[in-house]
Amino acid sequence: MNWFEGISLCPGGAVGPIHVLPALTNQKGVSLPTVEEELERLEAARETALARLEEQRAAAREQLGEEEAEIFRLHALMLEDQDFVETAQKAVRAGRCAEDGVREAEETFAAAFRALDDPYLQGRMADVEEVSRLWREVLAGGAGRLELERPAILWAKECSSGELIALDRDKALGLVVEHMAPDSHAAILVRAMGLPTVTGIAPQKHWEGVYAALDAERGRLWLEPEESVRAALEQKCRQAQARRRELERWRDAPVRTRDGRTVTVCANIGSAREAALALEQGAQGVGLFRTEFLCLDKERSPGEEEQFAVYRQALEAMQGRRVVIRTLDIGGDKHPPWLETGQGENPALGLRGIRLSLKRPELFVPQLRAVLRAARYGKAAVMFPMVTSPAEVRNARKLLERCRAELEEEGLPTGEVEVGVMIETPAAALMAGELAEEADFFSIGTNDLTQYTLAMDRQDPDLQGMYDSRHPAVLALIRRTVEEGHRHGRRVALCGQLGADRDMTKTLLQMGVDELSVPVGEVLALKEHISGLELSQKRE
Ligand code: PEP
Ligand code: MG
Repeated sequence: MNWFEGISLCPGGAVGPIHVLPALTNQKGVSLPTVEEELERLEAARETALARLEEQRAAAREQLGEEEAEIFRLHALMLEDQDFVETAQKAVRAGRCAEDGVREAEETFAAAFRALDDPYLQGRMADVEEVSRLWREVLAGGAGRLELERPAILWAKECSSGELIALDRDKALGLVVEHMAPDSHAAILVRAMGLPTVTGIAPQKHWEGVYAALDAERGRLWLEPEESVRAALEQKCRQAQARRRELERWRDAPVRTRDGRTVTVCANIGSAREAALALEQGAQGVGLFRTEFLCLDKERSPGEEEQFAVYRQALEAMQGRRVVIRTLDIGGDKHPPWLETGQGENPALGLRGIRLSLKRPELFVPQLRAVLRAARYGKAAVMFPMVTSPAEVRNARKLLERCRAELEEEGLPTGEVEVGVMIETPAAALMAGELAEEADFFSIGTNDLTQYTLAMDRQDPDLQGMYDSRHPAVLALIRRTVEEGHRHGRRVALCGQLGADRDMTKTLLQMGVDELSVPVGEVLALKEHISGLELSQKRE
């Protein structure tokens, strides 16, 4: 029996025949009629590719929402980039074929990105590769659409976001690719599509049509699996499906523990499209909208109109349930390319979160105005990240009120917004009493609270097992926050990853946490779990 092991990008399972997607032919060294004809061929293919990107953008907008569609606009910008296009043309003028020209441009730009120190920008190499691939595909006369005759597990060398968008989701059972960076747009898309995907396995043409089993949870692809493997995976898929169906009964149910305590279970989202998913998954609100995800891969900071449209979409999708919009938490490890602040020695301790927003009103004001305007379309709250002192909240509130006054003067209607503070620094937890006087509610960010309390980088793989949100020091700060919040009549939510740790739910609720906000996929299971808890039993 054959099996291959790769890395899971989107969990799930699939059983069915393999369909190996054709790789682009490498036309290196093909001799050509004239340079002029080849330049024309290059240009015609570029224009077709641009038209195709526009089609893909429209399809993505319709199927997945505005943010996912943005990828295709970025790719079009790359194809219009003068340096990029001229690099390809120069190679053709030097006597090489159009395909080689595109390859030259791709290699030059990919090398430039690779040489950068910044992992985010290095990740953009994938975009250069995708755009070049599309351009070469058009040159090779490729249809650009994956017409699948029957349901299959797709196996490809690479797969662009364009190809993914064009996929017939009913026929694509799973995806195996040789190359797909976990942070690439394509990987974000497979997750958004819920397509079980494994990367790191090279396609083998002769496996076309062969029956296979994909266990995307373990990152394993079995070819001609033994009956026992196939049956086990099929059973796993059936169980997962049955479990999902079973959990559906919690979708519209309020959450109450066995001894009658009502708890709110919300979802954490990073895009307006995810808000619709959150509602579908039974979220009673959005406890954390990480707005920085809207702009990390953009070429400029998002403007007021753009943000207004996204927040409005999220609020409308949640149909009157509260959406907590966290203001930009950029700086630190989340450094978008357009943010031209100096990166200090230690960005996690540098100008980030509310500190950055207060220092850069040209970024903060459009966001506050967008939130205030969108608030008319639902129940909105704004929340400030990385707070360390009451003065920061006072200043942010002042600015919010000034924005409201200006909008009213301009005749632009606004809605009510509650103001929340994230408790994710030890300073904020220790000053929870003072902060409660400035805020309408708290939300505890246990990811950063753990990082700053334990002085352990949350991203450092060497600290696995040591970076622990259950550490007694972190729990003591959570307890203090809840007590102080409640003493001032404030609701206390928790939106860090600890909220999804079901072994800790009882402890958190016994401490008095009023609301848990967790990744969308965790909402239903958490609702079920809470409903089986008895809080009056011995304190844990
Ligand atoms: C947190 O720090 O716990 C949190 C929810 O915010 P983020 O993970 O976005 O930093
Ligand atoms: Mg945080």
